[in-house]
Amino acid sequence: MVSEISQVEKIPKSAFNQLRNQYRSDQVLEFLERNFEGRILGITKEDLYTEGLNFVFGQAKMKGRVSVVSIARLDPTFWHQPEDKELVEERTIKECIHEIGHTLGLGHCNKRGCVMTFSSTVGDVDKKTKYLCYMCKLQLGL
Ligand SMILES: [Zn+2]
Ligand SMILES: [Zn+2]
Repeated sequence: MVSEISQVEKIPKSAFNQLRNQYRSDQVLEFLERNFEGRILGITKEDLYTEGLNFVFGQAKMKGRVSVVSIARLDPTFWHQPEDKELVEERTIKECIHEIGHTLGLGHCNKRGCVMTFSSTVGDVDKKTKYLCYMCKLQLGL
């Protein structure tokens, strides 16, 4: 599915909220949509939020082609825990698959362990696997 990996793009300053020191995820999505063709997953180290939530690990346009994941809070050092690169990678992979799932039309799932379960804490991310449950797979025709 991944056709190209680009590291050059800068997150748009216009999405930055100085008061919160965070970027608005919906504006990042709009930026990706405007500037890129095809299905896009943005990964940023910046902290993201959306209206009504303190933060988001990621966001996607449902059945759209753009999604974004923030590594900021997936990193245990954010929570004053010891550095663990493998854990960051594991969590990032899960959230990337989750957001891509939304672009493919999958909603949040209640099945324990399914990658499409909603995560509001890193504990939630750690509890789920990086795999789709049977029902989610079925929905995608897999
Ligand atoms: Zn979600
Ligand atoms: Zn599921």
